[in-house]
Amino acid sequence: GGGGNVKVVVRVRKFVKRAELEKQSPCLVQMNPHTNETILHPPSLTSEEGHDRRRQYEQKDFTFDKSFWSHNDKDTHYAEQRDIYASFGEEFLDHNFDGYHTCIFAYGQTGSGKSYTMMGTLDQPGLIPRTCRGLFERIEAEQNGSITYNVHVSYFEIYNEHVKDLLTPRTTAPTYLKIRESKSDGVYVQNLTDEPVKSYEDIERLMKMGDMNRTTASTKMNDTSSRSHAVFTLTLKQIQHDIATDSTIERLARMRLVDLAGSERANRTEATGQRLREGGNINQSLTTLGRVIAALADPKRQRASRLTGLQNQAKRRTEVVPYRDSVLTWLLKDSLGGNSKTAMVACISPTDYEETLSTLRYADQAKRIRTKAHVNQDAVS
Ligand code: ADP
Ligand code: MG
Repeated sequence: GGGGNVKVVVRVRKFVKRAELEKQSPCLVQMNPHTNETILHPPSLTSEEGHDRRRQYEQKDFTFDKSFWSHNDKDTHYAEQRDIYASFGEEFLDHNFDGYHTCIFAYGQTGSGKSYTMMGTLDQPGLIPRTCRGLFERIEAEQNGSITYNVHVSYFEIYNEHVKDLLTPRTTAPTYLKIRESKSDGVYVQNLTDEPVKSYEDIERLMKMGDMNRTTASTKMNDTSSRSHAVFTLTLKQIQHDIATDSTIERLARMRLVDLAGSERANRTEATGQRLREGGNINQSLTTLGRVIAALADPKRQRASRLTGLQNQAKRRTEVVPYRDSVLTWLLKDSLGGNSKTAMVACISPTDYEETLSTLRYADQAKRIRTKAHVNQDAVS
């Protein structure tokens, strides 16, 4: 397989909150559909504010793999749900069928459009339902070939460093699942429901159940959904029997689709900055994800990983990527490191200068991860 950068795209949503609609505040974000530049404009300030804050509130320019303008559907470069999927959803499915893991995660402050982008609505389905549909369309198209396809779905939530199954009924108190690591399976969640599915309709039922479990928990417990990561996983196993050599080859690919917790809490602790402080109620996973991304993006570490020889072992050890410092990064290790294709959708709100700048900076860091993907293929017999 080939190497390549993590794909990082940004998406700005329309005005939806009452304050945004009533205040008629201008959209601070501008996107150039030709260059994929995203420009963040400073908010207009009163003269006193402007005097104090002029240095902080300046125009910022970023360039990502793609800038999705979902702010105004009257504009010709308006990006709808289908456009997000078309830009890398299909390409990622190609990778899965070739035997690579993939991971797509939505990052951004609460209310910026992460869940809309990942799950969407009935009328406007997002990346998860579109990926599931695309997966079964391909399997059905290949039905008469020599390959047997095997698909499983799991859906869990990480809240306060605890893993909760979203595919079990929430009648009793939630049980927290343990994380295990083994040579053959890598890092996995013990006793997690991993449902075999035969059709898109099977998955639809599971998505609904998972989302209902997520929402129920969040209304009971003061909006936990903004503080939890939802990880939707499709596992595709392709089994091919070669009659000529009487050998069986299995290819395993996992698709992780992650709706991250609201980034506003991580931002306050400088998740993407140099001096990382771990405070009381910060989201451990998002903070570590920022550190993992920074470590992977750090050219010093890339040099260290190429070092060989005894004298460099200590050096390498100190510069290791801190996957194990949070449940999210530990479980997503394969998807962030060398064995996978990764995409991040940075979701931004149209009027929040500081949070948007934070998100764009975080996304800018992620852009520099380099992965070297290889096919997960085993000769079984
Ligand atoms: P988050 O998951 O980041 O907290 P949501 O996805 O719930 O944010 O989005 C907040 C609100 O904005 C929801 O009502 C959602 O339907 C709406 N919304 C978000 N993005 C878009 C978009 N691109 N187009 C239309 N509505 C959107
Ligand atoms: Mg959400």
